[in-house]
Amino acid sequence: MTFLEILILIIVGAFAIRFSFKFDMNQFLESRRKIKMEQLKNICPHGHMDMEGNKISFQSSFESPAGTTRYICNQCGLIVNSDHQINRMNENILKNPESFIERKKKFVKKAKKLKLC
Ligand SMILES: [Zn+2]
Repeated sequence: MTFLEILILIIVGAFAIRFSFKFDMNQFLESRRKIKMEQLKNICPHGHMDMEGNKISFQSSFESPAGTTRYICNQCGLIVNSDHQINRMNENILKNPESFIERKKKFVKKAKKLKLC
């Protein structure tokens, strides 16, 4: 082997290692992101809360895209099949507004880490 051949081998080898490392890294980050997005769905309060005087009002963030009967949360992407489920979630939140505030805080923190907001 000539010096040039060895040099080419080293360069090609370095590129191959770099490429595979980069590739795996992307996959790794993507799968981690997916896991975090799933976690986000569990934390997401799926709505906004407003204070009107002394009354708390809760605005669900579920929307039903045209042509579907399903609902999707515009904050976390959770899909539910019926407004029944949404009503149940909303009731739980109105019964326990403190948990909403807690969840909202956690959600915003996590979402910021994922650069969603
Ligand atoms: Zn949500």
